[in-house]
Amino acid sequence: MIRFFNKPRSLFGKLIFSHLIVVALSMIAIGIFLSYMIENYFITTREWEVTGHARDAAYLIGEDLKKNDLDEVEKTAETLAYSLDAKIRVLDANHIIQFTIDPDAEDDESGREQSEEVGLEEREIEHVFQGNMLTKKVYGPVLQRLLVAAPVLEEEIEEEDPGGVNENEGEEPQVIGAVTLSVPLRGVEETLAYISQLMLYSGGIGVAIATVLAFSLSKTLTRPLQKINRAALDMAAGNFKSKIEEESDDEIGGVVKTFNYSVEQVEKYLEEQKRLEMLRRNLVANVSHELKAPLASVRGFSELMLDGFIDEDEKKKYLKVILDNSVHLSRLVDDLLTLSHLESGQLSLEKQEISVNDLAAWSFDSVSPRGEAKGINLKLDLEPELPALYGDRHRLHEVLVNLLNNAIEYTPPDGEVFLRGKHYQGQVIFEVEDTGCGIPEEELPYIFERFYKVDKSRRRNAQGSGLGLAITKHLVELHGGNIEVESKVGKGSTFRVSLPG
Ligand code: ADP
Repeated sequence: MIRFFNKPRSLFGKLIFSHLIVVALSMIAIGIFLSYMIENYFITTREWEVTGHARDAAYLIGEDLKKNDLDEVEKTAETLAYSLDAKIRVLDANHIIQFTIDPDAEDDESGREQSEEVGLEEREIEHVFQGNMLTKKVYGPVLQRLLVAAPVLEEEIEEEDPGGVNENEGEEPQVIGAVTLSVPLRGVEETLAYISQLMLYSGGIGVAIATVLAFSLSKTLTRPLQKINRAALDMAAGNFKSKIEEESDDEIGGVVKTFNYSVEQVEKYLEEQKRLEMLRRNLVANVSHELKAPLASVRGFSELMLDGFIDEDEKKKYLKVILDNSVHLSRLVDDLLTLSHLESGQLSLEKQEISVNDLAAWSFDSVSPRGEAKGINLKLDLEPELPALYGDRHRLHEVLVNLLNNAIEYTPPDGEVFLRGKHYQGQVIFEVEDTGCGIPEEELPYIFERFYKVDKSRRRNAQGSGLGLAITKHLVELHGGNIEVESKVGKGSTFRVSLPG
């Protein structure tokens, strides 16, 4: 606990501080309000009570005062003072104090005193002698007192209430004296002291509850914040694996969720950047590698021929090799250029309305001589009433020819290759299926990447460069479509191209 107080800037410190201020302010406000209410109520009730007593005393004393029987007056006053537990003073018609009887006085002579201030100003005495009641709070040395003064009237007007005072000016009776009653307001002080004590106890309990609340609140608030802090530091150190568990569905939980999401995104982004960086680095190596073999063979055979080591009748054979390699080189360069145009967004499509049947037949016819030469059974299967396509004829032809050539390439003689045309939910779907060697599942995610070849030993001397599927995917996506593949090793593969109709 002390540790936290040493750190006033901590969340706990701030929370406890604000809680305490709230508790203190509420206690003060309630205390002031309650004291005011209670004091007011108490004094009003007491005032009402003492005013009644003062009236009665004035009436009783009035009887004796009329007869000028001072002894009787004193006796009555004394009886009243003791029975009402009030300090009573009797003033005569000249405003002179005749008797002061104080039951609380230490003086054993029945508490009788002669010379004393009445506690009223001259103006107030005048007011009472005009026949009016007067109530006043006086601040004694120890206690607050309530002073009520009543006029003693010579003749009582005919009224039920013997203590009643006639305030009607016309028939004003003669005032022959005054009686003052002074009572201590002892009860109020005690009640207020009791309330203050109560407030103090409740304040203490409030402070304890506020402390516990602030502590648990600060714990629930700081725990996830500390976790976020730790995870952020981990992240700065390059560790993205530390995920924070969500504990609540409030704003802090929201921050945790957002933080986890951001970490995931940053992680993905960095992985993607790493992958791209690797591809970029590999590109130069791949291109050089792809160019090296055909260039070496062109160079080697040309040198051999120039050196005259080759017979005239064999020359044709070597020239054919040189030509094949040159064709491969120029195809490679064409593919690289196409890919670079596609990747930089420079390749634009010449879109037009295309008949799906015509496109499929054209592509099928383009590859069938190759398929037949290899002894492969090629089949074209088109659904009736296929919708027209809107796209670039030549590029879509390139897509299908690429896929069909691959299928023929990776299917052994006597195998089968299908080109299917379907339509589904407004999309035109081409499927190129083969009964070839298939692609291992772990390689499937990569086959659309440039220069990616599944098994590099599979077809060393063939013309493939690993660019065909990368170009195909770009072209399909440029048409707003997508391409997917299903494959089983030893069973065959199906490439599915979906294009918006
Ligand atoms: P390539 O020009 O080498 O054929 P592609 O990009 O067209 O390059 O294909 C990438 C790789 O995917 C190929 O090296 C091949 O291993 C594999 N592949 C593509 N089509 C098929 C298929 N129909 N059957 C089996 N493997 C295939």
